Amino acid sequence: MSDIESKASELIQDRKVMERLLTAEKKRRGAGTGLTFVGVHNVAQHWWCTQQAVLKSRANELMFFAVYLQDRIGYAHRLGLIDKLPRRGEALLDIGREITLADVEMLRRQTPKKPADVEVYYSAFDTVDKGGKPVRYIHPDQPKEMKRDFEREAAARNVRIGDVEEHPLMRGMFFHSSRAEWHPTVRWNFPWRTYTVVGEPDGLTEEFVYEYKSTRNRYLMNFVKPVAIAQADLYGYFFQRQKKRVQIEIGEESNTDTYEQPVDRARAEETLTAFAGVDRGERPHLPKPWKCRSCDFRVTCSVSQASK
Ligand code: SF4
Repeated sequence: MSDIESKASELIQDRKVMERLLTAEKKRRGAGTGLTFVGVHNVAQHWWCTQQAVLKSRANELMFFAVYLQDRIGYAHRLGLIDKLPRRGEALLDIGREITLADVEMLRRQTPKKPADVEVYYSAFDTVDKGGKPVRYIHPDQPKEMKRDFEREAAARNVRIGDVEEHPLMRGMFFHSSRAEWHPTVRWNFPWRTYTVVGEPDGLTEEFVYEYKSTRNRYLMNFVKPVAIAQADLYGYFFQRQKKRVQIEIGEESNTDTYEQPVDRARAEETLTAFAGVDRGERPHLPKPWKCRSCDFRVTCSVSQASK
């Protein structure tokens, strides 16, 4: 990582600076306090629950703004557009405005080959469970000896070993690291109406976008698939690909379904439009109550059906 990229990386860790810059950027755009920086992954959640897609996007906006800024600075440096960072904070907001999708594609083609240490990096993860107690999740694809080492070390610290099925995000991260196909990719942002939409496909080749998801069983797959397809359509729409390749691993069947289809641009616009409508205050379609019961927003959400 270059000196400029390291400095940009440090900068985006400073919450106060990021909040100030986000306010300044919204002021420049005349966006007031409205939601502006969103991620493709969250927008695609419209097909799970649009209300959740919007609430999650609002909660994550600062992170997506930070990512947007980091990419503009980092790519501007790699493209030879800047050789130092400006002293005045607000001047950072101007960096990278001339970067085109063609520039970003050139950087994507420079993506290194699959790193050898991906599986090792995601070998185990320590966190806390819903009750606030420490828990360790171990990658199920680890060799037995390594699993045992992680278990012994956790036991010595009185840390519970969790089942990855109780933490879908963790399962997704583990499986993605070792079971998804590897393709080059790149992260970039795109204007859509008043939003800036940030996205990084799981894979982006010259021909198609690639999206991988995992789920526990075929019943849940019926709800995961529309989100995965929508996410791939959004990537295809923004990165201008004609085809999508979507894979969904179904844990209980030890099976992976693969879908190869044209990118549906109309569907991508439908997703974005529905998301924007709920963000503006339109009443969302209510999801099935079981989704509310496991939702992070079940207590604060105005249309929660968690008690039904
Ligand atoms: S509580 Fe239910 S309606 Fe509200 S965001 Fe969560 S899933 Fe959607």
